[in-house]
Amino acid sequence: MTQIHLNEPQGIIKTQITDLQLQHPFKIARRATDAIRQVISVEIDGGIGETAPARFYGETVQTASVALETIAPALPKDLDAIHDVMEIVEATLGGNYAAKSAIDMALHDRLGKKLGVPLYQLWGLNPRKTPCTSFTIGLDEPEVMAEKTRHAEAYPILKVKLGTPQDIEIIQKLREVTDKPIYVDANTAWTPKEAVRKIRDLARYGVELVEQPTKPYDLPGLKFVREHSELPIIADESVKRASDIPVLAECVDGINIKLVKCGGLLEAHRMINVARAHGLSVMLGCMIESSLGITAAAHLTPLVDYADLDGHLLIASDPYTGVSLDKGQLILPNRPGIGVR
Ligand code: MG
Repeated sequence: MTQIHLNEPQGIIKTQITDLQLQHPFKIARRATDAIRQVISVEIDGGIGETAPARFYGETVQTASVALETIAPALPKDLDAIHDVMEIVEATLGGNYAAKSAIDMALHDRLGKKLGVPLYQLWGLNPRKTPCTSFTIGLDEPEVMAEKTRHAEAYPILKVKLGTPQDIEIIQKLREVTDKPIYVDANTAWTPKEAVRKIRDLARYGVELVEQPTKPYDLPGLKFVREHSELPIIADESVKRASDIPVLAECVDGINIKLVKCGGLLEAHRMINVARAHGLSVMLGCMIESSLGITAAAHLTPLVDYADLDGHLLIASDPYTGVSLDKGQLILPNRPGIGVR
């Protein structure tokens, strides 16, 4: 059994809240984000991390700030053994996944910098095996979405937000302006029967996969959709941590992992392994975040099938540069740690 020793207060976590200015208001089936998205960045002994708490999962920058203040005095002196540190964090912070993710990210960045290697190398991954990221087209009137699609020329794969009475019309309009691969994300908006009907139509327009068609906790609904649809079904809101995966395995074809949902890179790694053991495909997704959070996640993408890491492309004032794109393919920075500047 692991012994957990709590040290004297050290106050070694520095935190900062940053307002990220969006290029355009961003809308999905259940909410709209206007001009500003707040993220928290942390620094722990030279390692940096970031988190973009999501209200949908009951977290805000305020709850994450309190969690980070609470854990700061409990962090041990030895920060190299990230598994041990995260056990202490887990025991103290429980459901504060956003705060956990920021700490986990900063610890990985710190260790990579200390050893002088990029994160992908820390994990023994091949940086040339990164996938192309999709680029998200937020909900709007069909004509406006077609216009946004025209402007998304640089990106070879599109992820289109749906969940409205106009869903099929939207895809028809988009197909008038592009023949690129399209992923669809309904963000829980459809009933199971509606999903089956719409997916049948979407398949005719060459849509490649459908993310979270139905309510998060309606697993029989998801299973019904999967059994009656020809497109792969990917769970997002239905899957947060590795322990959620076994029961989902017969309901979907794949899962969407996000650091903010699962609590960091260690848990994301665990999720990839559990998903593979259950024969599921894996997407790595994101919130609206800066290049710091996006680049950290990108280091894991040699292990996944689909990347949806475009959160930093939706903001107007990115405080960092890190991962870049070459015809949509993620190019990892070859600098120690996460490698952002
Ligand atoms: Mg999604």
